[in-house]
Formats: sequence, structure tokens, C-alpha cells
Amino acid sequence: METINDKNLNEIEILVDKLNEKKFRAKQIYKQIHNNKINDFFEMTDIPLNLREKLSLEYCFSRVKKIHEYDSKLDGTKKYLFELNDGNVIETVFMPYKKRNTLCISTQVGCAMGCKFCASTKNGFIRNLTSSELIEQTYEIERINGDISNIVIMGIGEPFYNYDNLVKYIKIITDKNGRNLSHRSITVSTSGIVEKIYEMANENLDVNLAVSLHFSNDELRRKYMPIGKKYSIEEIVEACDYYFKNTGRRVSYEYMIISGVNDTDKDAFNLHKLFFGKNILINLITLNPIKEFKNYKSDLISTNNFANKLTKLGLNVSIRKSMGKDINASCGQLRNKYEEKNGI
Ligand code: SAH
Repeated sequence: METINDKNLNEIEILVDKLNEKKFRAKQIYKQIHNNKINDFFEMTDIPLNLREKLSLEYCFSRVKKIHEYDSKLDGTKKYLFELNDGNVIETVFMPYKKRNTLCISTQVGCAMGCKFCASTKNGFIRNLTSSELIEQTYEIERINGDISNIVIMGIGEPFYNYDNLVKYIKIITDKNGRNLSHRSITVSTSGIVEKIYEMANENLDVNLAVSLHFSNDELRRKYMPIGKKYSIEEIVEACDYYFKNTGRRVSYEYMIISGVNDTDKDAFNLHKLFFGKNILINLITLNPIKEFKNYKSDLISTNNFANKLTKLGLNVSIRKSMGKDINASCGQLRNKYEEKNGI
């Protein structure tokens, strides 16, 4: 059965017309889905019952069912394990911080990228999330916590390997007739899929782009991030420069400190060479320890030291506040735990 919550207003108008109903019904249905977050035709009480029945025979909603919620005692972060219609499980994180409510969503079940430090990729890739599931993931969090103001697409998966559904999702949630979230409050994080950076730059979406760089030279990057074998750092930076030129959105480079591995003077020098004079941000992240990468660490002292080195070299640097440390809020950790416990 076709899903309805990933259709734009025009598509709903077409389907309403096919059902021999008046055009204004489309707007009512669209509003119920995207403003009132209704995910059941029978709760759309302003729609005549016979139309609700007709709709329910032909269309459906994807479901994300909360099976666990972990609440951080440190900072209010909430992490959810959601079960999809086919029994697969994903993670979604809600982070209240100052006046912002940020949502971190997953784009895939599992991940194919194989980054050595990341829990999401441990059991490989299962499937892409549909655009309908991406929307429902967002709205379910809003039903529970109220409206969110920012979305970071940094959960499980490589968003650019699920490109079409990602773009459809962004178009729907930013639609002025519906959810109307600002493009500027959305950030897509990628491990650096160069063609897709160009494609997104030409998409007219103007969302923020973050790239998981993490290393300052190709040799080291390839060792920890297999995608580095396909695209060089230089190619990635070139694509990001194009993104900035086309969208006016400053690109941020995520750089996770692994003490003694990627925070040397040479690394600072390399980053200076790559970025000096460019309007970019280097976002330093501390490594969240995971079982498979237990011999590596990063601490606030080495992160601060490296930040100082880069600042002295004239680069824009910020240190990302780590949220939900007490609830394994790092990408993929909970899903793995759940699967281990349930023998999956
Ligand atoms: N695949 C996309 C988005 C998901 S990962 C990407 O690579 O950008 C989201 C971010 O979390 C990435 O920057 C990733 O490198 C980072 N990350 C993964 N494992 C981590 C860990 N153990 N500690 C800190 N950050 C981690």
C-alpha cells in the first residue's frame, strides 16, 4: 500500500481528484498530517467518514513504534529506539539545549561505511529508510516532546547513500504549506560522498552541510574511514567550496580528536594548508568510546589544546558539546546493545 505522509500537496490534490473529491479536501488532509501530526485517517475528524474510509483502503502511514526511551540525567537528552513496520530498529535522539530543541535522525538501518570508530556500522547495512519513515521519525518525536527547532541528520547511516528519500524528506518538512521548518535549521552530515555534495549544492535546498573529515591526510583517513579510498580530502574540499559558492551556507568539517593520532602539530599544519582563508568551521568532537575502538581515546585537554593550535593558525574552530554521555548517545550504540540483548 502506498504511503501518504511523504506526498506533497500537489500529489495529494491529484489523489483526491482521482477519488472524485473536491480539491479543498487535499489541503485539509495535508494540514492534518503535517500541522496536526495525525497518522490515522480516522482521526481526521474534519474529513467526511466515507472519504476517510476510501483513503484508508488505498493509502497508509509508516509507523515508528517507541520500544525504549533513555533519558539523560546530565543534560535532558533523550534517546529513542524505534521499531519500524518490518521489525527493524533505529535510533533517534532529542536534545534540548538553551532555546533550541534539536533532533538527530537516522537515515538508514545500519550503515555500510565501515568507519572504525563508529558503532552504527558494526553489523553492516540493512536498508534505507523511506521518506515516509524519515517524516514519521520526526513527527513522532514532536508528538512526544513538542515542536523541534533544528534537525541534524547525523544518526545511523550515510544520508547521501539514501539521497532521493533524503531530498524528498527535506522538501516536505520545509514546505511552507505544511510543517514549514526553515532550511537553515537543518544540517546534513556526510562522510564525504563527493558527487552528492555537488548534487545537493544544485538542489536549491540551502541546508547546512557538515562533513566528517576527522583526519588531515588521506593515508590516515583511509585507514579509519574506508570511504577515503574512493574520495580524497582535496576532492571533498573542492566539492564543499562549490557548495558554499552555490548556497552561501558555510560548510562545517567535523573533526573527532583521537589523542596522539590526529591531533599532532603536523595535523594542525595540514588543516591550515587546506582551509586558511576559507569561510569554513572546524567542529572538534571528542571521541565517544565504543567497545570495538577501546584502545583509542580523546579527552577535553587534548581537544582544547588542538583547538588552541588551530585558532592560533587563524582557523575558525568550535568544540561540540557532547550530549547524553550517560545514555550511550553516540551513533548506533543503543541499537547494537538492543540487538545483542535480543540475539539479533
Ligand atoms: N554517515 C554520516 C552521518 C552519521 S555519523 C557521517 O559520517 O557524517 C555522525 C557523526 O558521528 C559523524 O561525524 C561520525 O564520524 C561521528 N561519530 C561516529 N562514531 C563516533 C564516536 N565513537 N565518537 C564520536 N563521534 C562519532
